[in-house]
Amino acid sequence: MKLFCLGVFVDHKLGVTVRMTIAPPAVTIDVRGCLTLSGVNALLPIVRRAGRIIDGPEITVDISAAQHIDTPALKYLTFLATGLGSEPFTVLAPDLAPTWPYAAQLLSYGSAA
Ligand SMILES: [Zn+2]
Repeated sequence: MKLFCLGVFVDHKLGVTVRMTIAPPAVTIDVRGCLTLSGVNALLPIVRRAGRIIDGPEITVDISAAQHIDTPALKYLTFLATGLGSEPFTVLAPDLAPTWPYAAQLLSYGSAA
């Protein structure tokens, strides 16, 4: 798995798959590709819509398979997860602790979107 992009040269692409179960009501939004700030803004309407299709679902945004995660985007996403501007949701993210070998690169590349 490629863990970061050379942001200046690469067009950050966001891929989203929505999985839904009726009983129990749950929605999982799988994020692939690159999670940037603009990507988070694109995710929000999907979260809102998911909350309307079935009643009171557990909503999870799973970014553990994303190729590249901008740290500000992850902070923004976890902030929004509290329910500001959408249903509250859970974020499944890889551990970006400093022990993770690529954390430093991710921080230094930041968002070029
Ligand atoms: Zn990227």
